[in-house]
Amino acid sequence: MDRQAKAVVCREWGQPVQVETITVEGPKRGEITIKIAACGVCHSDLSATTGKIQYPPPLVLGHEAAGVVVEVGEGVTDFQEGDHVVSSFISMCGKCRQCVRGRPVLCEHARKAMFTLPDGTVRTKDSQGEPLNVFGACGVMAEYATMHVDNCVKVDDKVPMQNAALVGCAVMTGVGAVFNTAKLEPGSRAAVFGIGGVGLNAIQGCATAGAEMIVAVDNNDRKLAMAREFGATHTVNINEVDDPARAVKKLTGGVDYAFECVGAGPVVEQAYKSLGRGGTAVVVGVADPKDKTSVTTLTLPADERTLKGSWLGSARPQHDFPRILGLYQAGKLKLDELITRTYPIEDAAQAFDDMVAGKNARGVIVFD
Ligand code: NAD
Ligand code: ZN
Repeated sequence: MDRQAKAVVCREWGQPVQVETITVEGPKRGEITIKIAACGVCHSDLSATTGKIQYPPPLVLGHEAAGVVVEVGEGVTDFQEGDHVVSSFISMCGKCRQCVRGRPVLCEHARKAMFTLPDGTVRTKDSQGEPLNVFGACGVMAEYATMHVDNCVKVDDKVPMQNAALVGCAVMTGVGAVFNTAKLEPGSRAAVFGIGGVGLNAIQGCATAGAEMIVAVDNNDRKLAMAREFGATHTVNINEVDDPARAVKKLTGGVDYAFECVGAGPVVEQAYKSLGRGGTAVVVGVADPKDKTSVTTLTLPADERTLKGSWLGSARPQHDFPRILGLYQAGKLKLDELITRTYPIEDAAQAFDDMVAGKNARGVIVFD
């Protein structure tokens, strides 16, 4: 059935987000409709409003949500009404070479569903009946969303929705970059550049995985204080040093792993330069498509360094989301402390402004 839903929409790149009442159609074959309970505000949502991430407007934002299944489409056997689910912006066919080798974030068909459902169409339209694209096959910054079942992961209904939501992006991305992409060895030295929702989770991933030293690098002292709470052993405010990479090297002798969680070529360069011999720099931040970075070529072979990327923490969502929530339930990952502030959907623009101002670990939109 069709449902009316308030939703956060980008109408034009460079303009503030708008809250609109939209229509969310019921599920087609292989889809389910979710009543959203909470949705985190991620820098990638902001990047979609500026055109840094080039998803065409009009676009329903949101890819980091949790909610309850209210309707299941034909052929759906794994979900039923009342199930708690977390959204996953990974569209995975399950059959291509990448999916079958266990790398669904690299699904060969994923790019067909960056701003629509996997079949290339949407279930969302505005008050004029015009179709609305959806961020990452999700579009979950809305009271309801209809998604393909492969973009939904069933989770334990004992976990509060606000906490579960964050596993859909920030936690999976940051912790997964450490666990899955880097496979950080205990006793390693690490640095994290950019202490937002993603970077804080890279820090707690490093701490949980047994890093010896964890250096947090940011331009905001409030973020650096949060980093300490999440396990950073040292901090560098880039405004207080000439060269952040050199500052990290001075503290650590050169790190084994550096995580770039900003999304800018110059910061990737710093992360790479902060490595010691044999080190790996993992790029998590999403840069403008034209952005470039440079490395000193000789250091790749002579120091056996690695420069690699990480998409949603190299997740296998159906396996990793419950695993991460299990670590939270066992007291080994902090999720409560990530939520600095919650907002009603009417205050969505404020939530984006507060992210830009660096006020929140994560701001979360909560629904009635
Ligand atoms: P955020 O806005 O919450 O945090 C960004 C942080 O970077 C802020 O604390 C800011 O002060 C800091 N910063 C800015 N410039 C800096 C610099 N030059 N040096 C050091 N720190 C600097 O953002 P977020 O939600 O944590 O997202 C971070 C990045 O990760 C974004 O680019 C986002 O698009 C990307 N992202 C990637 C994935 C993925 O799958 N790879 C998933 C989610 C988000
Ligand atoms: Zn995100």
